[in-house]
Amino acid sequence: MADREVDFLIVGGGHAGYACARELRELGGDSSIMVVSREPDPPYDRTACSKGYLAGDTSREAVWLCPPDWWDENGITLLPKTSVLKLAADEHRASLSDKQTVRFGSALIATGAMVRRLRVEGGQRSGIHYLRALGNADGIRRDVEHAEDIVLVGGSYIGTEVAATLTALGKRCTIVMQEDVVLQRTFGSEVGRAVQGLLEAKGVTIHGGQEVEEITGDDERVSGVRTKAGLELAAQTIVVGAGVTPDVQLARGAGLKLGDSGGIQVDTRLQTSAPGIFAAGDVAEFDSRIHPAGRLRVEHWEVAAAHGRRAAAAMSGAELPDEEIPYFFSDLHDWLSYEYIGPAREWDQVVTSGSLEEGDFSAWYLDGGRVAAVLIAGRPDELERGRQLFGQTVDPEALAGQAARPPTS
Ligand SMILES: Cc1cc2nc3c(=O)[nH]c(=O)nc-3n(C[C@H](O)[C@H](O)[C@H](O)COP(=O)(O)OP(=O)(O)OC[C@H]3O[C@@H](n4cnc5c(N)ncnc54)[C@H](O)[C@@H]3O)c2cc1C
Repeated sequence: MADREVDFLIVGGGHAGYACARELRELGGDSSIMVVSREPDPPYDRTACSKGYLAGDTSREAVWLCPPDWWDENGITLLPKTSVLKLAADEHRASLSDKQTVRFGSALIATGAMVRRLRVEGGQRSGIHYLRALGNADGIRRDVEHAEDIVLVGGSYIGTEVAATLTALGKRCTIVMQEDVVLQRTFGSEVGRAVQGLLEAKGVTIHGGQEVEEITGDDERVSGVRTKAGLELAAQTIVVGAGVTPDVQLARGAGLKLGDSGGIQVDTRLQTSAPGIFAAGDVAEFDSRIHPAGRLRVEHWEVAAAHGRRAAAAMSGAELPDEEIPYFFSDLHDWLSYEYIGPAREWDQVVTSGSLEEGDFSAWYLDGGRVAAVLIAGRPDELERGRQLFGQTVDPEALAGQAARPPTS
């Protein structure tokens, strides 16, 4: 006998879990819905952790995805600070960390992703931070109060965003990374160089082609970073942004099939290998009908939210909403905001125009003449055009002509 029975159990109160709960309720009916969430906060905008919230511009409550009384008003049970420890897929039964067992009609696994830890000598020293949750952002804020030199390990989204936020707070930030230029793995060298130029112009020091060998320091805390090539950097605080891995601990225990990326394998309806159990967001490796990769897993906020809504439709037997091309945005303080649709796995041509420094820029990634991705800053019309042309063969010259803005008089 289970302690509780619910129609819908949602594991994880991130973007995907919240969007699923909301959509389930909006689809109508008075089904019972329970969201079990490990974090102390109700679902919040995780993307603010490296931007406005880290900067101190935004309060904790302002990043919550809904007001606190929304849960009761909508008859949805939210269990914060609670984990689902075990999922018995055949019996549709979950065991929670508060000792309850819950029987469910269908379940969504939206457990997100976990940060990749730096496995180097000195990697346990105090003063090393990872960033995934509001609590991590609080820890960084507290620590940098007394720090002058901050080293960011990794030159991707987290490294660039945190460097921008903390530099704007008056801190001396240095990025050290394996790639030659920032964001190279996702956007290639040309765009990476342009973003790097912008960061450097704002005072961020960047060292590419470096692998961290040791975090130096004493028993108390970190004092710096040493790389394999012998570069030594002073730091009183270190923030590591070395990527994430899907959090499949629960799914693995439940015997669910995992995909090549290590995420939970789901079909176009987001159903896992176990009937009635779905997965969404960063943890899900999904079959796409519109992306040339066919099967992919992405770590984008909008995709997680869209997944949540899609899963709600599938779980309640409603018509599935149309699939959207994966979309991502990033803000580097108020120096640059860019948007991206893709992701492009490979490309053989990049058609660029405009100026990143001026926040007016576009980069079209073509693979065999087809649009594989588009990165845009300050040109909303082009993003829309990118959505329309995604996957289609285009004439690069015509694209270059149209992508370039006519000079303003
Ligand atoms: C600092 C930062 C900045 C970002 N910036 C951007 C950005 O600018 N643009 C963008 O598109 N994306 C951004 N992202 C990525 C985006 O936040 C994620 O893609 C999105 O949060 C994924 O949502 P999710 O619901 O799949 O997972 P998550 O938001 O990770 O939520 C999963 C939740 O499940 C909980 N959980 C895990 N296991 C259990 C369990 N067994 N029981 C109960 N709860 C469990 C976790 O604790 C977590 O609260 C950023 C991410 C970070 C960390």
